[in-house]
Amino acid sequence: MSHIFPRHCHSNPPVAVAGDGVYLIDSTGKRYLDGSGGAAVSCLGHSDQTVTDAIKAQLDKLAFAHTGFLTSEPAEALADLLIDHAPGDLDRVYLVSGGSEATEAAIKLARQYWVEKGEPGRSKLIARKQSYHGNTIGALSAGGNEWRRQQFGPLLLDVSHIAPCYDYRLREDGETPEAYGLRAAQALEDEILRLGPDTVMAFMAEPVVGATAGALAPAPGYFKRIREICDKYGVLLILDEVMCGMGRTGSLFACEQDGIAPDILCIAKGLGAGYQPIGAMLCSAAIYDTIAAGSGFFQHGHTYIGHPTAAAAGLAVVQSILDRDLVARVQTQGAALAERLHDRLGQHPHVGDIRGRGLFRGVELVQDRATKAPFDPAKGVAAKIKKAAFAEGLICYPMSGTIDGRQGDHILLAPPFIISDSELDELTDKLTRAISQVI
Ligand code: PMP
Repeated sequence: MSHIFPRHCHSNPPVAVAGDGVYLIDSTGKRYLDGSGGAAVSCLGHSDQTVTDAIKAQLDKLAFAHTGFLTSEPAEALADLLIDHAPGDLDRVYLVSGGSEATEAAIKLARQYWVEKGEPGRSKLIARKQSYHGNTIGALSAGGNEWRRQQFGPLLLDVSHIAPCYDYRLREDGETPEAYGLRAAQALEDEILRLGPDTVMAFMAEPVVGATAGALAPAPGYFKRIREICDKYGVLLILDEVMCGMGRTGSLFACEQDGIAPDILCIAKGLGAGYQPIGAMLCSAAIYDTIAAGSGFFQHGHTYIGHPTAAAAGLAVVQSILDRDLVARVQTQGAALAERLHDRLGQHPHVGDIRGRGLFRGVELVQDRATKAPFDPAKGVAAKIKKAAFAEGLICYPMSGTIDGRQGDHILLAPPFIISDSELDELTDKLTRAISQVI
């Protein structure tokens, strides 16, 4: 009997034993095309020798040193490299072990910044309904996914959730995408005014929403307006690029395509590419300097922050992305994936929307294309498609989210950046077959 506490208590998953490019291989020899990179993690595939060599070399030198006493060469080099390429005036890097740690740290940093700046009245966080920021208590409070929050309501922080920018469902007939972007952003100003500007510390959002909404990209101008509103009221802008960052959408940082930079930026999954658990929170010089000039101590920390071996992996991953110009590859392969999805699924009676950027694509499934009515959640459509795809040898990431009380089914695709054209064919053929088997 297995002693693993599995994700689903009654599941009996196959045992992964090897990785080969975009494929995972189980103990029976079955190969699975990793169409979602796990959960948008494995951007370099599963057998990148450069990264594994960098990890081994680091382990031979130094596995771990506690940041309470020492820094390390790979942590310093990774921070420098990230800041060299980061948007705006992001200036400092806080290395953690994953996405939830990055968003949790961001929430605490935002709060401490205001305390040290002499505005302790600023404690409120605004986030969005259709969002996921992690599973620890602060991060879960920020997320707007009702299913994930349900049981933990009494434990969560009081965070305001405004409507997301959700073109397919919330743009009105006759409204241009630009006009909709401005209208969607207005929800932030309305909420800041309702709460009282002096009480709001930060707004947190994913530039391209991942797990909750299937690669939901913002309307044009949405984030420019969000940035203006944050600046107008002195509210910090925290962007969560844990899923959509590190090249995934066709720019190293997703927000570059929206022409803005945040005050705090969170990254994780693609940073370690699955080779090591690592995440990072980047913050502006203004935030860092305020704390440096005040208490001089960020009241936060975990044992494994700045872990040298994880940092060595992150450094090798980012260097690989840059040296091999994989961001350009994401653009071409992303366009090729979108084309295949439109070809094979564009006319499917139950495919309502195909969306996303780069190699971050989502398919929203509906009962009725004309009314956009979602499926009855009891049907578990997304979960059944995941199962059918898995039987076909394809890993894709299903999600049932809620929007204004309605449940929706999405499939998220986020294959490794190294995916070839024939593998894209295999991915979309298998997905199309799996969808047709279920709906
Ligand atoms: N933020 C976003 C946008 C995410 O997609 C995730 C993970 N799906 C997280 C935060 C949490 O990351 P982790 O699971 O590494 O804690």
